[in-house]
Amino acid sequence: MGDPSFFEEGELVAVLTAQPLDRFLDYKAPEGGCLSGAFVEVPLGPRLVLGVVWGTGRGDFDISRIRSVNRVLDVAPMGVGMRGFLERAAEYTLTPLHAMLRLATRVPGLSDPPSMQRIYRLGKGEPDRMTDARRRVLGTFSDYGGSAFTIGELSSLAGVTNSVVKGLVKQGVVFEEVTPRDLPFPRLDPEYGGKRLTNDQMSGAKALCAGVQSGHYGTTLLRGVTGSGKTEVYLEAVAECLRKGRQALVLLPEIALTAEFLKRVEARFGSQPAEWHSGVTMTERRRTWKMVGKGKASLVVGARSALFLPYSDLGLIVVDEEHDTSYKQEDGVLYNARDMAVLRASICDARVVLASATPSLESWANAEAGKYDMLELTSRYGSASLPEMRVIDMRLENLPRERWISPILKQAVERRILVGEQCLLFINRRGYAPVTICRACGHQVGCDLCDARMVEHRFLKRLMCHQCGQTKAMPETCPNCGAAGKLAPVGPGVERLAEEAKKLWPDARLAVLSSDLFGSARALKAKIEMIINGGADIIVGTQLVAKGHNFPLLTLVGVIDADLGLQGSDLRAAERTFQLMRQVAGRAGRAEKKGVAMLQTHQPEHAVIRSILTGNELEFWRAEADERRCAGVPPYGRMAGIVLSGQDISQVFNLGNALARNVGMLKAIGAEVFGPAAAPIARVKGRHRVRLLVKADKGAPLQKAVAEWVGQFRLKGDLRLSVDIDPQSFY
Ligand code: ADP
Ligand code: ZN
Repeated sequence: MGDPSFFEEGELVAVLTAQPLDRFLDYKAPEGGCLSGAFVEVPLGPRLVLGVVWGTGRGDFDISRIRSVNRVLDVAPMGVGMRGFLERAAEYTLTPLHAMLRLATRVPGLSDPPSMQRIYRLGKGEPDRMTDARRRVLGTFSDYGGSAFTIGELSSLAGVTNSVVKGLVKQGVVFEEVTPRDLPFPRLDPEYGGKRLTNDQMSGAKALCAGVQSGHYGTTLLRGVTGSGKTEVYLEAVAECLRKGRQALVLLPEIALTAEFLKRVEARFGSQPAEWHSGVTMTERRRTWKMVGKGKASLVVGARSALFLPYSDLGLIVVDEEHDTSYKQEDGVLYNARDMAVLRASICDARVVLASATPSLESWANAEAGKYDMLELTSRYGSASLPEMRVIDMRLENLPRERWISPILKQAVERRILVGEQCLLFINRRGYAPVTICRACGHQVGCDLCDARMVEHRFLKRLMCHQCGQTKAMPETCPNCGAAGKLAPVGPGVERLAEEAKKLWPDARLAVLSSDLFGSARALKAKIEMIINGGADIIVGTQLVAKGHNFPLLTLVGVIDADLGLQGSDLRAAERTFQLMRQVAGRAGRAEKKGVAMLQTHQPEHAVIRSILTGNELEFWRAEADERRCAGVPPYGRMAGIVLSGQDISQVFNLGNALARNVGMLKAIGAEVFGPAAAPIARVKGRHRVRLLVKADKGAPLQKAVAEWVGQFRLKGDLRLSVDIDPQSFY
């Protein structure tokens, strides 16, 4: 506040670095001065580190010892809005500001000087002689859909030496170009290829466009059944944002969805937008980061971390499938991208569109309370209609052991195959079998480092811990009693379900979709395209398929275990099950043919299963909202989760007890504290875990009190403490 926007040489500036220090550092502005917000390189001890000029230096340090900024980097300075966003996000999530800066600068080569570089693109023709190494290079190009690479990137991705690439260049199969390191993105044309909207869609689009035109903050919940054209509608808001010359960001929950989405963007705006997620090459990431800062990328499509790019003028953020749990980052900085999108937009006068067929209760409550606008699309586009929902009562089906597809579902699948339509068999469980048990002693094979059972993955030929990712070979003998040949899988995972399907329908073409089965996002994309083009009769999949994909030939969805999500004590178990089941069912009948969804369940009278069947969402949300209101839990109350961990269980509990005894500042805001208690997964990666939970009224200043509370204690030894504001999972 009140800081100048330019500092003359020698003036004191406060610099924020991404180093774990809890203060700004004072430096003298370099020769030629520097802008407020400039990215700079500063000396810190013997090293040079990256930093941002945050404002005027405090000057409370021996002035003769203050060093100068080494140099100003050739990237756009960080705007006031972005700095304000990082500060507020740090306050909200109780994250140190330096960690927020690290999140915002996770890109290689930021401090490289501007220069030209050689990049390599796919050229034309075939090499004279195809070798394995050459094939891998060409494969890398097709994996990354036409990207350009530096030679280092290309050879390491392909696993070849540079000379293989050079050889292909000589033959013209690969082109070498010298370009400025980072090129602007092509202009997107808002008038290029708009679709003719239905009346419903049109009025929705108009409302969103009016919001964008206003140039003021506002959030709209765009609720519409799957296939109603939400994407078409929010693309109109993007178009309006482009017309105003401001930047737009579309967040997607799953990188597997980006390929399909990029195609739609190209059809609508004539060119591809910038992409930001883990499947993008480093070269492209740096280009995107820099161009976003200079305003030379007008639309970014990406994963949650795209929210932390340095937009020069962000006017619109779309959060597609806003209810999706993957928007919550569960390690490192714990934040919910949906909530941070709203925060960021409110700081930079941008609009937010939250799109979903099954909104989160949080967003639904905000809309009811008038904080968000609500737009609804009630019917599917064109002749597509919503799937019919049926329940299969598994108590009445006499299935043999180790079989999960009921006769009714089996018949329904066969009818579809006969007429050339597709079926989806859905199970929300990765791997082959969730439990491996010894038939001699009853022992269940567990992870050595975590209190979790190992999940058999036949495809990988390993047992895997879904907590820590550790794998081990399937033991020959029981680790407990030593009996040989007695270990047996119990229960189905997606791989085992696929095996059953293969046995039932040996002639059908089967496609298995689960995140473990794909080495790369591109391989998954190829499989999805194959399904869209009719290359499969039966899809067996996990929740990977529930999200957003359009499979036009799919008319039957069979849910193998609809009760799976209802077990467990998670506050959002009902909400999650409802959303997931409606989403999965929504995959059926997206084109002309009517779809059917069949849910196999052992508790057809369960309230959640009943509301999934009737599809009466309003009734479901109201009932769920009432329950949470009574219990004073989110969205009608606030929570913070504290996880303590360490190698020595008694030390961890000691700290937990000390916290529980010193809760004055929490009592002062009327908050309650629960715990300490062993976390549901009491050991992860060899560290014991203990939880505390803080519950407060909606209006209570939770963060401040929690910060004071946990700030009373110094963490000794290897003890760690993490605070999760608005926790989503309680493991
Ligand atoms: P949602 O995002 O709500 O699931 P989509 O926007 O993906 O729905 O629309 C479903 C399908 O219908 C897509 O293939 C889309 O291109 C098509 N569609 C929707 N609205 C229109 C329209 N007005 N004109 C042409 N096609 C449309
Ligand atoms: Zn483990």
